[in-house]
Amino acid sequence: MDSYSLSAAAKINLYLEVVGDRPDGYHELVMVMQSVGLTDRVTVRRTGAHHIRLQCNHPDVPNDETNLAYRAAALLQASFPQVMEHWGGIEIIIEKNIPVGAGLAGGSTNAAAVLVGLDMLWQLGLTQIELQTLAAELGSDIPFCIAGGTAIATGRGEQVDTLYGLDGLYAVLAKSPTLSVSTPWAYKTYRQAFADTYMDITTAGPSRREHLHSSPMMTAISQQDGDAIGQHLYNDLEKVVLSAHPEVNEVKTALASCGGLGTLMSGSGPTLFTLTASQSEAEAIVQQMRSRYSDSQLGLWIAPLVPTSLQLIES
Ligand code: ATP
Repeated sequence: MDSYSLSAAAKINLYLEVVGDRPDGYHELVMVMQSVGLTDRVTVRRTGAHHIRLQCNHPDVPNDETNLAYRAAALLQASFPQVMEHWGGIEIIIEKNIPVGAGLAGGSTNAAAVLVGLDMLWQLGLTQIELQTLAAELGSDIPFCIAGGTAIATGRGEQVDTLYGLDGLYAVLAKSPTLSVSTPWAYKTYRQAFADTYMDITTAGPSRREHLHSSPMMTAISQQDGDAIGQHLYNDLEKVVLSAHPEVNEVKTALASCGGLGTLMSGSGPTLFTLTASQSEAEAIVQQMRSRYSDSQLGLWIAPLVPTSLQLIES
């Protein structure tokens, strides 16, 4: 094959707890991540030239070597220097549907798609764990984006354990049209405000685990209990993002008043989501938001919770 196209899914965080500081300067986190059916299309194809080329149809996404998807290809090329000699250069084409800078891991899922697509195009035969180890060098969310589904992510987010998948739930996503939140800003601001509550992460295992609050969410997921999942949605970063951006708080209040199982900000925001038990309930919430919320530009999407992040698209 000369080209592969993959659909690459966004993620939401059903749970995000900042545990403490790590010696490497990152935060120690406990997150429950969930793939949702809002996808970009990522194509990798062979070209005659001996370099990497990238194009994306979104004005806010760079078309150069700073694009996370480009960096994924460059990392794979550096790790296997013979591949370009053997196969020639590549072109990456990204068709963006996932909002940018939205807390939905759009860049990370593109990078994951490139790693998996190039593994096939260059016939490297890497295992999922080998791909995830490479992915962790590029960004903390990328190992999850390779696996997808429902997972608990620990460490700086790169240690991913797949959980029992959630079936039949939907998310209504809402994002203010012009606002994006920088993830480094959110964590830096959180540290400034809450460092005194941080746990010493070198503390021994069991006593440390008692302090974490993720157990009710884990139980709810293992029991496939949508009501309990909705009740235990949690994100520490809301504490800084909602106060710094009142418009995000406003969208959250409006969305929460429309019903559903529970409402939360995803990642470092500004996207908010409400979980629902059916597509029709999600559609009713979107209708209510359109009639009640004053900003007609507000982005609203309905996305099912899905069991994988990446899927090969037949060309
Ligand atoms: P996360 O949830 O992982 O924090 P995010 O959804 O908040 O990510 P992205 O959409 O990945 O944020 O974009 C963050 C920044 O990265 C943007 O400023 C964007 O220009 C840049 N970027 C680089 N490569 C990509 C890509 N392939 N897709 C989207 N943004 C990219």
